[in-house]
Amino acid sequence: MQQITARKQLYDLIISGLPVALFVVNSSYRIVEFNQAAEELTGWPKEDVLGRSCSEVLESSLCEDNCPLRESLKSGKTCMGREALIMTRGRKQLPIFFSSAALTDDEGNLLNGVEVFRDASAEKKLEAQKKNIISLLTHDLKAPVAIAGGFVERLLKGKAGPLTEKQQSYLETIRREVGRLESYILSFLEISRIEAGQIKLQLESLDLADLLGDIIEGFRLQAAKKNILLELNLPEKLPPLHGDSLQITRVITNLLDNAIKYSEQGKTVDVFLTTDDDHQVVEIRDHGIGIAPEQQTYIFDSFYQVPIEAQKARGTGLGLAAVKAIVEAHGGTTRVSSEPGKGSSFFVSFPQ
Ligand code: ADP
Repeated sequence: MQQITARKQLYDLIISGLPVALFVVNSSYRIVEFNQAAEELTGWPKEDVLGRSCSEVLESSLCEDNCPLRESLKSGKTCMGREALIMTRGRKQLPIFFSSAALTDDEGNLLNGVEVFRDASAEKKLEAQKKNIISLLTHDLKAPVAIAGGFVERLLKGKAGPLTEKQQSYLETIRREVGRLESYILSFLEISRIEAGQIKLQLESLDLADLLGDIIEGFRLQAAKKNILLELNLPEKLPPLHGDSLQITRVITNLLDNAIKYSEQGKTVDVFLTTDDDHQVVEIRDHGIGIAPEQQTYIFDSFYQVPIEAQKARGTGLGLAAVKAIVEAHGGTTRVSSEPGKGSSFFVSFPQ
């Protein structure tokens, strides 16, 4: 008895003293614990939230379609490093980073759910400022880079006189690098325009299963070069989806390209198409190098590359930013679940 009381005291001390916000729900998603940091962050006193449903109190942007606890219940894993917007008691939207874990009985039924979260306002503000600066810079760089490229082209065509072999080779290197710079700038500007809603999607009725089949066929050669097997797993016939086939192709292409790029020789990359409520969900699962939990929050930002990967300079850091912008423009969501050394699953969902 004494031992149980001591354990309870320790448990209370850990929960109340935690420097991050935490709440616990029961099997009906009703709040049974709400620590001090959660009170401070949300403005809700514990006694006002106990017994109420978490979605009613926090009104999280994920409650309706992407409840992380339900997801953790389904996958049996903790949902780590996710982002959401919640509503404080003073009716202010607050960006948070959070992790959710479901505790289940032997039959997999929810006993309790634990959610740990912290304020993400500072990161979000910084991210917006970073985007603004990059956007201004890229916009101003576009014209001079195009002009420089044009003059290099004229020099190469001999319009300023004959070139030595060395001059020709140096200029070809400059042309290649200017071309790369130009494509970074154009990609970034396009992502910014999609995010700002300035690019209208060409919506049509499309069959996602057919589209996935076509894209995977196009990737077979690239995958075979690394001895990687591509598997497509489709459900029974699904209804058509309202989407922009060119942009959705870009999303899947970027994800498949990464899955192959970040896998070792001889691994398998699986593509699954499933449904979840009123969404069609594509999962691209690889068994590659994986991504550390602390990096998972940032990989969808423009120009972000996991530090070790950046040293290898295998990409641009724009692929996932484009994925997120396009999926969100369709009203869908993106998320990643990954374990270093074991592999990654990227999920994109589109409303049906
Ligand atoms: P990049 O052009 O560098 O691949 P992305 O925006 O596509 O840019 O990806 C951002 C970063 O996320 C990559 O630099 C890489 O570190 C990480 N990443 C993306 N996809 C995967 C994956 N399937 N496996 C492991 N790491 C990945």
